[in-house]
Amino acid sequence: MALPRLLVLGTGGTIAGTARSRTGKAYAAGEVALEAMLGEVGALGLEAELVPRPVARIGSQDIGWREWDALHAEIARAEDDPEIAGVIVTHGTDTAEETAFLLDLTLPAGKPVVLVGAMRPSDAVGSDGMRNFANAVRVASDPDSAGRGVLVVMADTVFAAADVRKAATANVDAFRGFPRGPLARVTPSSLDWFAPAHRVGSPARYAWPEALPRVAILTAGACMDEKPVEALLGIGCAGIVLAGMGQGNAPRVVIEALAKAAANGVPVVRSARVDEGMVDRNVEVDDDAHGFVAARALGPAKARILLMVLIANGIRDAARIQAAFDGR
Ligand code: ASP
Repeated sequence: MALPRLLVLGTGGTIAGTARSRTGKAYAAGEVALEAMLGEVGALGLEAELVPRPVARIGSQDIGWREWDALHAEIARAEDDPEIAGVIVTHGTDTAEETAFLLDLTLPAGKPVVLVGAMRPSDAVGSDGMRNFANAVRVASDPDSAGRGVLVVMADTVFAAADVRKAATANVDAFRGFPRGPLARVTPSSLDWFAPAHRVGSPARYAWPEALPRVAILTAGACMDEKPVEALLGIGCAGIVLAGMGQGNAPRVVIEALAKAAANGVPVVRSARVDEGMVDRNVEVDDDAHGFVAARALGPAKARILLMVLIANGIRDAARIQAAFDGR
């Protein structure tokens, strides 16, 4: 039987990183070329044909429009290519949440699309990159992975883009899902799904834009005043995501300044700086009166991505933005 053909889009990250020492902490991301990495993967005897396509060799803290635009175009082409069974994106872990969610919102839920990274560089003792990559091959070549949207594979675990976040700075087991936890457990030789695919055949939810607007995350802190809100408006932010205390709270003067921004047509989304949980409407903050949107299950990083996509698609009205956050 012919092996599944997987397109591998390389962007860099720690999975392609090298350390100064096998046991030290210092390293540089994105140093190993994709072809060299796949050369090593060849020795694992994985049952897939891998087609490498380098997109970038950077730490994902530097990911931006150029890389996102290239990834979207490559994956959209792969969706239409009958020779390609699935797509793997090698990616840094710092912004895997953002890239995965952006692609998830703007691609149809067709063939498997899997983002994979590593917490330890490729030459570190106990490096997790090869195992994560072998797991990603297992997920991307499984027909049951289709129709689930973009997936993130880390530490023998599969998450949906809409749920996943990086929750630890350095542990190998650094990713968590909210509100859903893992969708599956994976090893290089097994894959167990815990729920059926829920987006089979669904089209892209939003059009891929020509550009993304400037949307900032403002983290609330005790004893903060309204000046940071004014500064963000001063640099032309098209939208603001509040990473608020608790259930998306902020000092009264900050809330008042944000309400003024919303009244002037700058969408404001209230999310939470705490690790996880829902931010619902009208709890301690009167969203109806202030014209705000509640981020619901999305944390600040994903809320910013969704708000950028909505504004780029011409959706600026608070009620329509709220409906998108409710539906995520
Ligand atoms: N800074 C790195 C990156 O996001 C971290 C990693 O890949 O784990 O590219």
